[in-house]
Amino acid sequence: MIKVLSVTSECAPLVKTGGLADVAGALPLALAAHNVHMRTLLPGYPAVMKQLAKPKTVMTLADIFGGTVRVLASTIAGLDLLVVDAPHLFKREGNIYSGYDGAEWNDNPERFSALCQVAANIARNGIDGWQPDVCHGHDWQAGLMPEYMRSDKKRPATVMTIHNIAFQGLADPITIGKLGLDPYRFTRDGYEFWGKVSSLKAGLMSADRITTVSKTYAAELMRPEFGMGLEGVIDKRRYSLTGIVNGIDDVVWNPTTDLAITPYKTPAGKAKNKAALQAEFGLEKSDGPLCVVVSRLTHQKGLDMLLQSLPTLLDRGGQLIVLGTGDSGLEAAFRAETRHKNVAVHIGYDEDMSHRLIAGGDAILVPSRFEPCGLTQLYALRYGTVPLVSLTGGLADTVINTSAAAMAMKCATGIQVTPVTANALSLALTDLCDLYANKTVWKMLQKNGMKQPVNWDASAGAYAALYKDLIK
Ligand code: ADP
Repeated sequence: MIKVLSVTSECAPLVKTGGLADVAGALPLALAAHNVHMRTLLPGYPAVMKQLAKPKTVMTLADIFGGTVRVLASTIAGLDLLVVDAPHLFKREGNIYSGYDGAEWNDNPERFSALCQVAANIARNGIDGWQPDVCHGHDWQAGLMPEYMRSDKKRPATVMTIHNIAFQGLADPITIGKLGLDPYRFTRDGYEFWGKVSSLKAGLMSADRITTVSKTYAAELMRPEFGMGLEGVIDKRRYSLTGIVNGIDDVVWNPTTDLAITPYKTPAGKAKNKAALQAEFGLEKSDGPLCVVVSRLTHQKGLDMLLQSLPTLLDRGGQLIVLGTGDSGLEAAFRAETRHKNVAVHIGYDEDMSHRLIAGGDAILVPSRFEPCGLTQLYALRYGTVPLVSLTGGLADTVINTSAAAMAMKCATGIQVTPVTANALSLALTDLCDLYANKTVWKMLQKNGMKQPVNWDASAGAYAALYKDLIK
């Protein structure tokens, strides 16, 4: 049995702002079948503390950033949790990274340094009689973990996973002493990034291995368009980098048992869900495809291009339902589009509603400018909802385009857009409407998608193999 400590700032079903939570929540369960015991270390935000069942204090650290820190062990939803209870750092209302005004907490470097200090302590001393063989950190919030451990003589192996390189955890160098960092490593070969302390770079420079969430994103990260200034770092470490595509939680996302919808086994079963969705959002029946979007509304997601190409879809009788929240400008722009009778928008975050959209939609639109992996296209495949995606990152790796060859081989599952522009998106929406009009072809796309394995089996095996290789 390989023992792995997963270090993460979010974890479904306890606390989630994006795909990282889904991965952190699903991976431990999938790894159990591969002889890996993963314990998950995460901050004790109010939402997490509220859900803890019979927590047991397994570690107490006297003073981290001005307060006592306790580590609580508990099991929830099959997850073996270690929760960092530090009210002075994590007991706050608002978002886990920012206040109600949307501004990031200005002590975020300290908050996540505390998480990493606890991880390093567990790596050194074990916890509750349990000593990890591998410490696996996710994104910048865990970046200081391998940095703190790098000069330990005997230590667990370390892995860093990049879920999104756009978030880097930058801090003023004045914090170096406070964060307990080695000032001599404030260099290009250490954690310095254009005069700032970069938690993510620290992790990337010091971890034994790096992974990211798809093979295409791994390759893209070495290019300036995608590397966000860290392309050189990634290139330097390219032989330690692996792309492992995410899976989905196939219990939560299962059209045959999903309680949020009318369950179905075949594409035909979608009709009821489509009618219910149209009724819920006040849309009339239409001959065109009902397209859905479930997304953060940010520049990354390319939805401004969808606003530009929307007339193409509407002219062809298509409909659009958007569920999302994010940039106020994009929220307002989508709200304004509801002047069209075939557009409906719900600004907000709603798990159950996301299931109803994925089940009831004919197609899902994911026109991201970059997408490390993407999860909604995977849910869509499983639910017989045809994905229209940008040819980038994990979207490129998980959708088989309706190219002539794929159509001849009868293995296509969706439409890929390239280049990622509003023009190309308009053309792709036209293709989508044409494909939808041909019921035989559309059914083939749906069936192919529903057959595609999108669960964690293969990828959990890949992580287990990586851990094994590291500790041998
Ligand atoms: P990212 O992590 O960049 O936001 P992913 O596609 O990897 O993108 O993961 C997004 C996750 O968040 C998915 O599980 C998706 O269903 C969910 N999600 C995003 N926006 C909403 C929303 N408004 N309501 C419900 N779920 C949402």
